[in-house]
Amino acid sequence: MNDNMRISRRDIIGKVTAVAAAIGAFAKLGARAEAAPTIDQATAQYVSHPVLGNQCSWCTQFVAPSSCQIVKGTISPRGHCKYFATKLP
Ligand code: SF4
Repeated sequence: MNDNMRISRRDIIGKVTAVAAAIGAFAKLGARAEAAPTIDQATAQYVSHPVLGNQCSWCTQFVAPSSCQIVKGTISPRGHCKYFATKLP
């Protein structure tokens, strides 16, 4: 092996660290893409008030303070849509 073919321990550690950072960055992007709401409020029949005593803050999809995992836009904790699914027992 000549001097041009030698790889230092520092080079290997640097490359492994760069690959690990790239994998972490892609993983974060994937997680964000999965979490993005896809349904518009009209399609979900969203309203900004409770319906039949049910409201967004009691739904499994609600993300405090004012978002939803599946419905786009600002979501009131006291709102409701046709996808309501209670998180209460
Ligand atoms: S009822 Fe649930 S699914 Fe519908 S907007 Fe509210 S939090 Fe989202």
